Amino acid sequence: MYDLAVVGGKTLTPAGWRRLDVAVRGGRIAALARLSRRQRHLCRQVLDARDCLVLPGAIDPHVHLSLTIGPGMTTADDFSSGTRAAAAAGITTIIDYTTPEPGQSPLSAFRARRRLADARVNCDYSLHNVLIEFRPGWRRHLARLVELGAPSVKLFLIYDERGWRSDDARLVEIMELGRRLGLVTCVHAENNDLIRLFTARAGKRVRGAAALAAARPPLAEEEAVQRAILLAEYCRSRLHLVHLSCAGSAAAVAAARRRGVPVSGETCPQYLALDGSRLRRSDGHLWGCCPPLRGRGQQAGLLRALARGWLQALATDHCAFTRAQKDSWGGDFTRIPYGLAGLETSLAVTHTLGPVAGVMSSSQWARLHGEGPARLFGLWPRKGRLAPGADADILVWDPRLRWRVRPQALETSIDWNPYQGRLLQGRARLVVLRGVLLARQGRFCGPSGGGRFQKRRPGRGS
Ligand SMILES: [Zn+2]
Repeated sequence: MYDLAVVGGKTLTPAGWRRLDVAVRGGRIAALARLSRRQRHLCRQVLDARDCLVLPGAIDPHVHLSLTIGPGMTTADDFSSGTRAAAAAGITTIIDYTTPEPGQSPLSAFRARRRLADARVNCDYSLHNVLIEFRPGWRRHLARLVELGAPSVKLFLIYDERGWRSDDARLVEIMELGRRLGLVTCVHAENNDLIRLFTARAGKRVRGAAALAAARPPLAEEEAVQRAILLAEYCRSRLHLVHLSCAGSAAAVAAARRRGVPVSGETCPQYLALDGSRLRRSDGHLWGCCPPLRGRGQQAGLLRALARGWLQALATDHCAFTRAQKDSWGGDFTRIPYGLAGLETSLAVTHTLGPVAGVMSSSQWARLHGEGPARLFGLWPRKGRLAPGADADILVWDPRLRWRVRPQALETSIDWNPYQGRLLQGRARLVVLRGVLLARQGRFCGPSGGGRFQKRRPGRGS
């Protein structure tokens, strides 16, 4: 009677944790119920979730696969290996970014990216539309992209030197348009001018990769975060702040939300788990990312912010470069290919630091990886929840299993890992995408290319 049933686990339902089995038919959840032995017998496939938590498949709203940032600098993970890694770890939907060439319209960039991803993805996916420039004729492109199910854009307040920076005027124009069209404006918020000033100073004073932290202090992020929030408040338009690395940024988001500003924020496992002192090691450049890793005080502050509900989502900003690619920096911190792998360790890292450490409940943790991003980016209620009618994206999570991160035992293509050697607690035992088993015990075992583009719904203006 059912295609598949996940039985015997503790299931996160819209009403909280329940001892209920999850029954699947036609790729969707058909029922949450206690199945009798006879009913189980009639299921085509039965998955054992004893001693495990049963959660909606995780959603990672910030991922970079097949991203080229310069000659020889294409990320090691493409849409195939990256989505294998995601699925192996319990992430059943990712949102990647378009990669427009100078002069290329948003619609053309979107179509090119879909052609690259559609045949390769092993889990479901969507795209944010990157805007490195904006022309008046492109307004209708954005309207069309909303219709095509990609109602979000991404702007950079930095990268003047690459010609990608949006100034405040463009940010306001896009957010005004966003309010009309139902677009979420995602912003990389750091202050371009302050980074230029501090980069020039750091280059003279600080040696090696540690200069990265000196060049991009918390002030550079917090100022840009506050400014973007004020402009979103003026525009009454949905703003999402990506990869927040400072507790002060999270506090600004929380304060703005209290006064009704339609802003949200995410942070990433690396800003919770890895502290900036490792930039001072001889191989510190491997951990170069942007914004940079911070001190322990910021890590603790961000964890507290998550526990208090100040931020709405966890994301990885997965951007995997090999050791050889990282080693090409030549001692100049401005030439490090920025980015860290995170897809395959994300849930286990945050589980270890959150519920296992007693900092937040398991349901809070699960919501930051599921319901939170689903609601922010228009995937709710089809994804991010276990309820009849929702997609049967199911994560069976073993909360007690301890494992050590070894790069060679992971699905991602890089030859090192930011968390290598680290002992983590919690791992995906089984991962199901729309009723199809994708992964078992942290290894991908699903059909290749089974992922699909997911049309997202536009958000409300405020
Ligand atoms: Zn990113």
